[in-house]
Amino acid sequence: MSGKVKKTDEQWQERLSPEEFLVTRKKGTERAFTGKYHDHHEKGMYVCVCCGQELFRFSEKFDSGTGWPSFWEPVSQESIKEKSDHSHGMTRTEVLCSKCDAHLGHVFPDGPKPTGLRYCINSVSLDFEEEKEE
Ligand SMILES: [Zn+2]
Repeated sequence: MSGKVKKTDEQWQERLSPEEFLVTRKKGTERAFTGKYHDHHEKGMYVCVCCGQELFRFSEKFDSGTGWPSFWEPVSQESIKEKSDHSHGMTRTEVLCSKCDAHLGHVFPDGPKPTGLRYCINSVSLDFEEEKEE
């Protein structure tokens, strides 16, 4: 993990789709059940769509029924950043990529054991790298 990734909006817009840009750089939210990973059960690693940092593993993914990919734990606490979010009249905890500050989603305290956490993440904030069978 070396250094932070910093780009201007224009530079991000060049490499991201309009929806990816809106969610990750402007803190948008994709519509529930529309994302490509909420009902996705392949073995592998979910990485940041902006900078490729490893964020979540398939083994910590669970079906939350919310329509967004949900995980009970990130790959490591260093890969994400949490921030208090008071938008939309609610107090929530925002989850960001620690490397490029991409908005990923929110974390809620109603997840399964052992962490009791639910990382509710937008599919468009993620890319998936399939696990290679050796
Ligand atoms: Zn990132």
